[in-house]
Amino acid sequence: MNLENLKGLIRDIPDFPKKGILFKDFTTVFKDKTALHELTEYMASMYAGKGITKVVGIESRGFIMGPIIAEKIGAGFVPMRKPGKLPAETWSESYTKEYGTDTIEVHVDALDENDVVLLHDDLLATGGTMYAAYLLVKRFNPKKIYVNFISELLDLNGRALFPEDVEIETLIKY
Ligand code: AMP
Repeated sequence: MNLENLKGLIRDIPDFPKKGILFKDFTTVFKDKTALHELTEYMASMYAGKGITKVVGIESRGFIMGPIIAEKIGAGFVPMRKPGKLPAETWSESYTKEYGTDTIEVHVDALDENDVVLLHDDLLATGGTMYAAYLLVKRFNPKKIYVNFISELLDLNGRALFPEDVEIETLIKY
C-alpha cells in the first residue's frame, strides 16, 4: 500500500472541535473502497502471525478499523467505552485531558491472562486516552500488548507516556 496516497486522503479540518485544533478526518479514507481495502490489508499484514487473540478498540473511532482488523487476523473484538455505556460489570480508568478529566471502561470479563492484545485507535495525540486504555488492559495481565494507530502527531510526543518495551506502530506521521 502506498502510504502517501493514504495520507492524501486524510482530510484536515481546522478549528474542529474547537479553535486551534487541526482535526484529522479519516472518513474520507473509509468511504473510499480501494483505500479501505488497502488499509485493511496493510494493517492485517502488520499483525498477522503475532498470535493476537483480541483487538481492543477505543470509543469511538477505534470502533471502525478495530473489528475489521480483528476479523481479518482471526481475533475477537473488545470495545473500550465512555462511562456508563457498557452493560455488565466494568473496570474504569480516568485520565487528564487538556481541560478536566475523562474516563474509559471495559468489561471485567473482556480479556484474560491468556490473551495477546492489540490496542487500536485512529490517532495518537497526547497519548492520554491510549495510556489509560493500556493501564486497563494491563490489569488483565495478558501475555503481550501491542499498540496501533493509523496516525500520529509527532510534536505531542504521546509515545513518551509508555514503557519502552511497548511496541507502538503508526502508519502516518505528522
Ligand atoms: P490523546 O488522548 O490526546 O492522544 O487524543 C487521542 C484521541 O483524540 C483519539 O481518540 C483521537 O481520535 C482524538 N484526537 C485528538 N486530536 C485529534 C486530531 N487532531 N485529529 C483527530 N482526532 C484527534
